[in-house]
Formats: sequence, structure tokens, C-alpha cells
Amino acid sequence: MARETRLVDGYGRLHDNLRVSVTDRCNIRCYYCMPERPVHYVPREDLLTYEEIERFVRIAVSLGIRKVRITGGEPTVRRDLPALVRKLSAIDGLEDLSLTTNGVLLPELAEPLYEAGLRRINIHLDTLDPERFFRITRRDVHGRVLEGIEACRRLGYAPIKINVVVVRGESEPDIIPLARFGRERGLVVRYIEFMPLDGQGLWHPDRVLLGSEILEILQREFGPMRAAPDQDPRSPAVEYVFPDGRGKIGLIRSVSDPFCRSCNRIRLTADGKLRYCLFALEETDIRGLLRGGASDETIAQRIRETVSKKWDGHQIHAANFVPPSRLMHAIGG
Ligand code: SAM
Ligand code: SF4
Repeated sequence: MARETRLVDGYGRLHDNLRVSVTDRCNIRCYYCMPERPVHYVPREDLLTYEEIERFVRIAVSLGIRKVRITGGEPTVRRDLPALVRKLSAIDGLEDLSLTTNGVLLPELAEPLYEAGLRRINIHLDTLDPERFFRITRRDVHGRVLEGIEACRRLGYAPIKINVVVVRGESEPDIIPLARFGRERGLVVRYIEFMPLDGQGLWHPDRVLLGSEILEILQREFGPMRAAPDQDPRSPAVEYVFPDGRGKIGLIRSVSDPFCRSCNRIRLTADGKLRYCLFALEETDIRGLLRGGASDETIAQRIRETVSKKWDGHQIHAANFVPPSRLMHAIGG
């Protein structure tokens, strides 16, 4: 592909990774993501249809996007998600299609999603303790998530990654049990630092348990862990192998060591806005173009322009940091 058709920003970063949110709704209420009663949901008519998403992804792939992750809100609450997976997995040139989910609906959906072509899945689970799960999510569905993980293992999804949001003062008791759970089942558990995108303004730097501290907790239990030899330098997770070589974990240090320098991502929200960063304060209206008769070339041009405007990195630590007006569930984490 000619260099100028690829998505390279003003800092020389090549973008080949797209996250597509299909809804801002969710069937649980993790306190660090959503308020109990969100004040606003995208009206259904404003959600991109699966056909519109498919067209956008085809155009993005023609510009060098190679990886697409479907996310939300909770993507599995959108009707007939396997239909979208089928459409996207048929796109020539798309090398990697994955899903991020809270796992609650996987007991029913793991199989249809697999049949539709999905192989890679990230399942969000913060604790193995049902009571703590209820406190975090305000919903009594812990058993369903565990069942969903088992369904994915049985079907042969690979890799299966477990996303754990870590909050200081809350998550410490869960770190070791989850590491053990993952290691025994061949799952990569990834600990994610708490980011200022929560629904209730609870975020504070003091509530971020740093990746280095998480690693210390793990090493106290398991012994010295070494950096995984097969790291993908552009992945936000830094992976570590257990001392006996059996299994690995990941640390996503979005706050203490942001991966902005090697960021290769753009994001499409459920209502069709394109964002160059999770924390971006501006967005490009793709839905208007898709519904207004714009040509593929016009849409491609707007994608290029969006990438070219990308900033060098988020400003979480700056005194004048302004969080985006959208919360995590409305951007697509
Ligand atoms: N509902 C799905 C889920 O929970 O995986 C997909 C959407 S969710 C917004 C995507 C990811 O964002 C989750 O896996 C969760 O780990 C992460 N997340 C949500 N709120 C966060 C926060 N305030 N800080 C860090 N990560 C967060
Ligand atoms: Fe829902 Fe995912 Fe947000 Fe939790 S993190 S409330 S599962 S969208």
C-alpha cells in the first residue's frame, strides 16, 4: 500500500487498529464506568446499523486498518451481534477481529459468535468473589460470567484474556486469586489501571494502584516474574511470565506509563463519531457522512484528517486536564 494512503499521524504513528462500539448500553453497572442510572443513552435511530459499520470498516481496512475490536457499552446486548461478526469477519484484509465483553451473555452467545467467525475474546472480570462482584457491578450475575468463560474455553477461543480494572483500596484482595485462576486455565489476566472516565467522578490519582505495585503484589506471592519474550511492542499490555514459565499476566499502565507514544488506535462510537483518542475532546461525525450520501473516498479523507489531527498523548497528569464529556461506556473502552 502506498505510504500516503495509510493512516500516519503528525508524530509518525501508523494506525492499524480500530475499536468499534456497537452500543452505549450495558446489562451491569461497574461503578468506575457507569452511574446506576445513566442520564442519556444514544437514541436507537442514532446507532450505526451493522451495514453502516461494515461499510466504515471496509473503508478503514482500505486505509491500512488490520485489527478491529468490537466493544461497547456491552456489545452483546445489541441484537444479533453474530450478524455483525459474520459481516466483519468476511472483510478481505482484516486480519484480526476480537470482542471485549463483560461475559454475562456468553453462556448463550459464545457459540453463535464462534460460529460467526469470532476467535479472540477479552472478558471483563474483576473478582472471583460473588459478593464483591455485586458491589462492583450492582448486579447479581457473577456465576454467568464464570459460565461464559468456561463456554469460551470449551469452544476453543484463543486467546481468551481477562480484563481486571484495579482500584486502590478495593481490588487488592482479588489480584492473586485472579492470577491463579488465569494461570490454571491458560487465560491471560490483564490488570488495568483505573482511568478518569468513571460515571461518578470517583477517580483520583490516589485511587490508582500502579502497575508497578500490582507487579510487586504478584511477585511477593509467585516469585520474580520476567517480561514475556514475545511482547507485541504496540500492545498496551506489558506481559510477564510466571517464574516457573507456566502462564503469563499483563499490566496495562494507562495512567502511570501511558502507551501514547506507540498508540495505533482510532475509535468509532456507537453513534458514529470517530475519535483519535479515548480522551479526545473532539470527534468527527461519520454517521452524518454515511447517511448523507458521502462517497467512500470522502469518508476515507475524513478518517485521514482525523488521524492527522491526533495529539501526542493524553494529559491525565496535567493540572489543566479536562476529561472528555463522554464516559467510558459511551466511548467504547
Ligand atoms: N462492557 C465490556 C467490558 O466491560 O469489557 C466492554 C466495554 S468496557 C467500557 C471496556 C473495558 O473498559 C472493560 O474491560 C474495563 O476493563 C475497562 N474500563 C471501564 N471503565 C474503566 C476505568 N474507569 N478505568 C480503566 N478501565 C476501565
Ligand atoms: Fe458495562 Fe463494561 Fe462499563 Fe462494566 S465496564 S459498566 S461491563 S460497559
